[in-house]
Amino acid sequence: MSDCPFCKIASGQIPARLLHDDDQCVAFADINPQAPFHALVIPRRHLTTLNELTAADEPLVGHLLRVAAEVARAGGVAEKGWRASFNTNRDGGQVVFHVHLHVLGGRQMGWPPG
Ligand code: AMP
Ligand code: ZN
Repeated sequence: MSDCPFCKIASGQIPARLLHDDDQCVAFADINPQAPFHALVIPRRHLTTLNELTAADEPLVGHLLRVAAEVARAGGVAEKGWRASFNTNRDGGQVVFHVHLHVLGGRQMGWPPG
């Protein structure tokens, strides 16, 4: 998607502080962190929301979660704890319409989320 900011990060057209990079996904620091540690893990392939996932995407989603755990460990928050969140559409609080996994840590998370 030519006008998608996260496609542009994945292709290097927009700079980001990269934390992980492989053939399926990219992880980078969130530009407006909501916790002391806040990263995003995105598939390289443009997917608008989780609503469009098919059975063929199951390995990809598992990979995103494993990379999230790696990124949390590298960020020093794995043992104390962290939150993984996919926001979907308006009620889910989604603003950028390219699937992304939030990885938040470094403070106590609230529950339920606001
Ligand atoms: P969401 O509300 O789930 O769509 O979250 C989108 C997230 O993307 C927000 O936390 C933003 O701060 C973050 N974000 C938007 N643009 C960029 C960017 N260019 N680099 C890093 N993070 C970004
Ligand atoms: Zn995209």
